[in-house]
Amino acid sequence: TPLLQVNDLRAKIVESNVDILHGVNLTVNQGEVHAIMGKNGSGKSTFAKVLVGHPDYEVTGGSVVFKGENLLEMEPEERSLAGLFMSFQSPVEIPGVSNDLFLAMAYNARMKKLGREEVGPIEFLPYLMEKLQLVNMKADFLNRNVNQGFSGGERKRNEILQLAVLGADLAILDEIDSGLDVDALRDVANAVNRILTPEKSLLMITHYRRILDLLNPTHVHVMVTFNLLLIFNIIASFEFGICMIHGVFTFDYWN
Ligand code: ADP
Ligand code: MG
Ligand code: MG
Repeated sequence: TPLLQVNDLRAKIVESNVDILHGVNLTVNQGEVHAIMGKNGSGKSTFAKVLVGHPDYEVTGGSVVFKGENLLEMEPEERSLAGLFMSFQSPVEIPGVSNDLFLAMAYNARMKKLGREEVGPIEFLPYLMEKLQLVNMKADFLNRNVNQGFSGGERKRNEILQLAVLGADLAILDEIDSGLDVDALRDVANAVNRILTPEKSLLMITHYRRILDLLNPTHVHVMVTFNLLLIFNIIASFEFGICMIHGVFTFDYWN
């Protein structure tokens, strides 16, 4: 069975009642690396946020099954504990909470959920240092408040550190490459590659091609807006007698 199965997912913005997702289909199997590309405003972030249960959006149709369970019925925290991780395009600052404390709390919440023993600081620190090395970050990073005063690159790296510490069966990285210079991008991509073990899956959202060369996706999808889809449908039905009903096109990536 697939790790993630999205069928005809529809969603709207709660506040304005505007429909954004018009029937998205996506299947992610264990070990696959998927990229979703598409123009700004096409709904990529909305899709990711709907998957993790962001309260700004309401699902109006379709289904999402994650590890055999109905993801849409879970609270956001349950989704994360079930093994879904998401880095946000604009990660939040958490004043007053240091990075290491935040990571320890998040890690122990997961251990508790998995029915394992929580770990104390003496055990957690070496584990954390190992992960820190993996993502190539300095230790002074840990004493700083979560995301406060971080540069763009530091934020991205911190998200990857969170992923490394918490682990996830499916990581969703939303524009992990935006605002990074070439060196920082390579660093972040290397870190992601080191974290990704063969049985882990990745869904990355981007509108740059650069990161595709670094992360070697197994599948690439392009999200298009509803208007574009309508136009495409009209042309396609005249030209080829077919009609696309999905919000996501998929093609094989040639590398
Ligand atoms: P992308 O990530 O592909 O750039 P988004 O998912 O961020 O696209 O946005 C898709 C569309 O939905 C855009 O027109 C955006 O303005 C709108 N949108 C998304 N989230 C909200 C929100 N919380 N409030 C108002 N409009 C939103
Ligand atoms: Mg955008
Ligand atoms: Mg976006």
